[in-house]
Amino acid sequence: MVVVGAIAAFAVARGVQSLAPSSATATSPATLRPGEQVVAPLPSTDAAPVEVPPTEPRLPRSVGGDGHGEADGAVPDGTTVFDDDVPGVANLDPTLLAALRRAATDARRDGVELHVDSGWRSAAYQERLLQQAISKYGSAREAARWVATPETSLHVSGDAVDLGPSRATSWLSHHGAAYGLCQIYRNEPWHYELRPDAAAHGCPAKYADPTHDPRMQQ
Ligand SMILES: [Zn+2]
Repeated sequence: MVVVGAIAAFAVARGVQSLAPSSATATSPATLRPGEQVVAPLPSTDAAPVEVPPTEPRLPRSVGGDGHGEADGAVPDGTTVFDDDVPGVANLDPTLLAALRRAATDARRDGVELHVDSGWRSAAYQERLLQQAISKYGSAREAARWVATPETSLHVSGDAVDLGPSRATSWLSHHGAAYGLCQIYRNEPWHYELRPDAAAHGCPAKYADPTHDPRMQQ
């Protein structure tokens, strides 16, 4: 709606400008014969299309009706890294969780709230997500770009967390390394793992996607 409004406002501005005698150059009213009218040009319809970034595919936050609830790692909306009563948070690796809490505390001072979209997951929940991804992407090969197997998933071992919203991941992309928190995959700006050396040496180069991660080759 904003884009349409902006284009409409632009067209109106052009129309008004072309009708205003003081701004007319080529067709000044003084050069018109009696009865002739200044015809405003039609509003431009060839405005450059406004690029809308594609929505990146994300995992469902919870899986309803199939028995995988919070106990399996599904995380309610609005969960933070301080929610000890949510297994998806409580079962994260303690060192990762401590780093997340330090970062979240400082982010909050900057007015940025860190939310956990997914943290630890049971193997059964991970398998369910994998099957859903295979249905969605049409093949196990394509699904592997987004969802690991229960055997390889860093979420199942409690060593990975998916964070949001985008303001939070943007904050982390600038400040996360100081806490040892690193984005691992270029196609998953929300997926963070602990890299303790990052505070001193920065985060390691990102893999394009999980299929390039040697840990996933099992
Ligand atoms: Zn993840």
